[in-house]
Amino acid sequence: MGVRYTGRFAPSPTGLLHAGSLVAALASWLDARAHQGRWLVRIEDVDTPRCVPGADHRILEQLALCGLIPDEASLWQHQRSDAYQVALDALIDKGWAYPCGCSRKEIEAAQNQAVARHQAAVYPGTCRSGLNGKTARAWRLNVQAVQQALNLPALTAWTDRRLGAHTPKVRQNVSDAVGDFVLRRADSLWAYQLAVVVDDAAQGITHVVRGEDLADNTARQIVLQHALGLPTPQYLHTPLVLGANGEKLSKQNGAQALDLSNPLASLTAAAQALGLSAAPKGSIHQALQQWQHDWAKRWP
Ligand code: GLU
Repeated sequence: MGVRYTGRFAPSPTGLLHAGSLVAALASWLDARAHQGRWLVRIEDVDTPRCVPGADHRILEQLALCGLIPDEASLWQHQRSDAYQVALDALIDKGWAYPCGCSRKEIEAAQNQAVARHQAAVYPGTCRSGLNGKTARAWRLNVQAVQQALNLPALTAWTDRRLGAHTPKVRQNVSDAVGDFVLRRADSLWAYQLAVVVDDAAQGITHVVRGEDLADNTARQIVLQHALGLPTPQYLHTPLVLGANGEKLSKQNGAQALDLSNPLASLTAAAQALGLSAAPKGSIHQALQQWQHDWAKRWP
């Protein structure tokens, strides 16, 4: 028997759902339902200083009001430190993760030098060959060491179910574009990249459906999946919802929390952003069923 489709919605509880995050939630739900798969919710609360107390439960309530109910109990990333540590230790054992003692100022200075040399402003790998007397602050992945050891190409590429295989959005030379990225931060918080890769694998996620703003993390996540010997899910990055000012809707630029006095209206707007036709008047359940049907035809 094949592996069962498992999808997820992975909100960061740094605020409530807004029109943009509902699009990602609805798309991941529809894709799971259209594949007769499981749909899980994971609360990505590793960046504790940015989390808003209570937002996690309110997001789950917002989803429930929209008829989007996870098939299993949700996972909170703040309870997953042990699993992240095991993954980091495995990378350290292989010689693929190294401690970094650079301060923010030192990193900025090195990045400015790179920019002056017309190179991307990436971490230049200062601590790759040792701390040179500095105190370890963060942990980083030695991207080239992983790629060389595993015979991976320098250009990481994937075929996205929506973006396809022929756009610069689905390929990245991680070393050149972002450099040796952080796995554990100087403030000892776990980095999003490590947490997401460990948890997608732990939850058996086969299909990631999320906003296109996250597409430029995918190459890093694929490199990490290889480094940790984990499978790479299928990816579908959904269109971004733009605000009235033409900028992407996000909590950072002040997107309003969803007004769920009329959940069907909010869902209909999200469905339209996904190119689905308006559902005939009826219940949320009926609308979701129709969109599920449309989705299955559109994104087989
Ligand atoms: N937690 C991330 C966010 O809310 C999403 C992560 C993901 O879907 O991979 O932006």
